[in-house]
Amino acid sequence: MTEILAMLTAKTVAFDGSGGGGEITWDMVAASLAGLDRDIVLYAQLKFTLDDTVAGELSDRLYLNAINLALKSGWRLAKDEDAETIGRLSDLALDESISPHSCKICSGTGTLDSKTCEVCNGAGTSSEISIRRIAARLKVTRHRAEFFWRDKLKSLLSDHLTWEHDINGALKRLKNKQED
Ligand SMILES: [Zn+2]
Repeated sequence: MTEILAMLTAKTVAFDGSGGGGEITWDMVAASLAGLDRDIVLYAQLKFTLDDTVAGELSDRLYLNAINLALKSGWRLAKDEDAETIGRLSDLALDESISPHSCKICSGTGTLDSKTCEVCNGAGTSSEISIRRIAARLKVTRHRAEFFWRDKLKSLLSDHLTWEHDINGALKRLKNKQED
């Protein structure tokens, strides 16, 4: 996590928009994200302000995105799977991205024996989600979770990662502007 995100996250506990004196408020962040897709702005808002009011809208939009992706890519669902399964998949992906699990190797610290943890590359979060967890959340068999849904989940998660890069870029520009 970049420094500015850590700063923003720390401030969001009492997020009242009363910025000033070098504080980063959500309004300033939102302005810096203005050129980005609405999905990305909502994602940033949910992730960094933990504002539940945007969670519903974002979840709806991501569900539609996932359905479109499924249609476009011709996902072959099993008999007992349907659009609801895809909805559970997109919710799971969102949950994983918004609050990732800690890396088990370094316990989320990102370092091991004062060196960067090689498993999570210092991120402190784990990108591997167990098959058991996917099966339970999606209500599918473990076999389906492993050989079909895991890849789909990875593709949604990699979309979110792209968004985080966009958000980080916007925040970096915001920070540079502040330091001018
Ligand atoms: Zn680690």
